[in-house]
This record gives sequence, structure tokens and C-alpha cells, in this order.
Amino acid sequence: MARHQVVLIPGDGIGPEVTAAVRRILHAAGAPVEWVEHRAGLAALEQGQDVLPRETLDAITHHRVALKGPCTTPIGEGFVSINVRLRKELDLYAAVRPVRNLEGVSTRYAGVDLVIIRENTEGLYSGIEATLAPGVVTTTKVATEKACTRIAGWAFRYARQRGRKKVSVFHKANIMKLTDGMFIRCARAVHDQEFPEVGYQEMIIDAGCMALVQDPTRFDMLLLENLYGDVLSDLCAGLVGGLGVVPGANIGDRVAVFEAVHGSAPDIAGRDLANPLALLMSAVMLLNHLAETREDEACATAAQRIKDGYNRALAEGRKTRDLGGDLGTRQFADAVVDRLPV
Ligand code: NAD
Repeated sequence: MARHQVVLIPGDGIGPEVTAAVRRILHAAGAPVEWVEHRAGLAALEQGQDVLPRETLDAITHHRVALKGPCTTPIGEGFVSINVRLRKELDLYAAVRPVRNLEGVSTRYAGVDLVIIRENTEGLYSGIEATLAPGVVTTTKVATEKACTRIAGWAFRYARQRGRKKVSVFHKANIMKLTDGMFIRCARAVHDQEFPEVGYQEMIIDAGCMALVQDPTRFDMLLLENLYGDVLSDLCAGLVGGLGVVPGANIGDRVAVFEAVHGSAPDIAGRDLANPLALLMSAVMLLNHLAETREDEACATAAQRIKDGYNRALAEGRKTRDLGGDLGTRQFADAVVDRLPV
């Protein structure tokens, strides 16, 4: 059977624990993947490398697919986020984050089935910051017509391909008339000219957040610029059980990097407490991506086996502590492996 070489970045904090669990499950499920391990983040720095080593970027460019654990970024000082750098350097412009209820994970809401599409390369994450005078600092928000149109096209194509009904754009164009104004004007133009059959809605983000937590089932897909997409991803994770259950993909025209929405969780790192499910679900997205882009049915089969395995485990109450269960990271991986369909 052909095996696909996939770059694996274990990352920092809980990263090595959750990536080890995911590797074990993919192996047991017969996923035709050969891991090519590379470092990034604190793990690279500790080995005397750059936080985002050139060889890691080159390996991702070469193999075109990666699974990435979370990487720590110092708060309020220190190096620039490697997550932001990676997305920009590889032009991974579309972040895709499906947010759904899972059987066996009880939450305040039922019937949540959202897909967040986040523009990944500009907005307030431009990295353009300056001290204008002592005590006066700025961060520049960047929006280009090219990137706003590109992400809108990507979102509406996704909606059409997957039969999604509506795209809601959250914005603050009443205040940021140029940048968020550009974002909604581009989304509206792409919708009206190319995808009129997909439902379309614009909402000012504060009212949108209120509507989202009142009744998330009113929404289908959310299209957001970079910062709003980051914040709303965690908010939406909270609707379905938390950061342990929301996967993600960062997609460009040539390369895709799959990673959970959560960070390196230093508060629980190294204690076998982390939920590997979000990264496992990201790996399922990766396998489906390989199945589509390389037309390999074996990847789709492995993806389905893993989904069946974790759904069975959750339905039987075999869960990690963040979901109200009592399993450690490794025990949850065992529970999934034991329930993989034969
Ligand atoms: P976080 O997502 O790491 O943790 C927030 C809370 O959720 C913590 O209480 C944590 O224990 C819990 N949590 C997160 N993932 C979990 C899991 N899989 N299982 C169980 N509980 C989980 O966010 P933070 O604490 O704000 O950030 C920590 C570090 O992670 C920071 O350096 C931040 O920059 C980085 N970060 C990285 C990424 C990424 O690599 N893509 C994303 C977000 C944050």
C-alpha cells in the first residue's frame, strides 16, 4: 500500500502527549501515513534552532501536508508567534474549524453544526507594531482586496461543495470602515456574482456573538477576519464541550497544515491529562484531505474507522476529564484503539 509522507510537529506543552496518542491511533487504524518529524516552537529553541527552523518549513513545502501540535508563544514579550509566522510564510490563508456536538458530550446546546472559516494571513495579526512615543504604541490592521476576495471565494466554494446553506460574515465595519468595510464588500461581491444560491448574512460582531450564544443552531458557516476568527473559534468550542473537541486545518493552494484549535495548555502539560481528541479529529481531516487530493480510498477508510472508534468511546462514557470523564490521555487513546471497527 502506498504510504503518504506527512510532516509531524509535536510542538510544546501538551503537544508531545497528544501527538503520541494520535500517532498510536492512526497506526492502529491502518492509516497509510509515514511521519516525518520536525521541530518548531520552544522545542526547536531548546535544541539551539530557530523557533521556526527553515528545515521544518522546507519539509512542509516538500511534503505538502503536516500535522502540528500546539506551540507556545510568550505573552506580551519575546518572539513572534510561530503559528502566525507559519501560516503567513506558507500562505495557509484559510483556517477551517468544524464545531459540532458529539454524542456522549453533554453541553447546554444540541444540534450545533458550525464551520468557522478564518482569514489566516492579515488583519491585526500583520505583526506591524510600533512605539510612536513613550507610552503610545500601535498595531496596524491590514486588509487587502486580494486576501479578502480570496478567503470569501474559498468559503463560498466550501459551502457549495458541502451543501452548506448559509455563510454569516461577522464584522465591525461600522467602526473600522476601511478594513472591515473591505472585508464585507469583498464577501458580498463574491457572493452576489458567483454564489447567489448560498444564503448570505452580515452581522456586526457584538450582536452576532450574542445571537450565537443564544441559539447557535441559527448559524451554519461563519466567515471572519483573522482576530475575530481566533476569538470566535474558542467561543464556539465552548458551545460543544470545550477546546478538547474542536479540530482545525490551515489550507493554502499547495500546502495544508492540520492542528487543533487549542494551545499548548501549560497548566496541564506533562500530566497525562490532555484530551487528544481535537488533534485526532484534525488528523481525520488530514486523512480526508489526502483521500481527496491524492485519490486514496485507504485514507478515507482509515478516517472513517477512527471516527467510529472515538464516537463509540465517547458514547460509552470513555472520556478525558475536560469532558467529565476520568481517563488520562493514554487511556483515552487505548479506548479508541479498542473500539476501532475490524
Ligand atoms: P490553551 O488552549 O492552551 O488552554 C486554555 C485552557 O484550555 C487551559 O485551561 C487548558 O488546560 C485547556 N485545554 C486546552 N487544550 C486542552 C486539551 N486538549 N485537553 C484538555 N484541556 C485543554 O490556551 P492558553 O492557555 O491561552 O495558551 C497557552 C499557550 O498556547 C500560549 O503560549 C498560546 O500562545 C499558545 N497557543 C498556541 C496555539 C497553536 O499552536 N495553534 C493556539 C492557541 C494558543
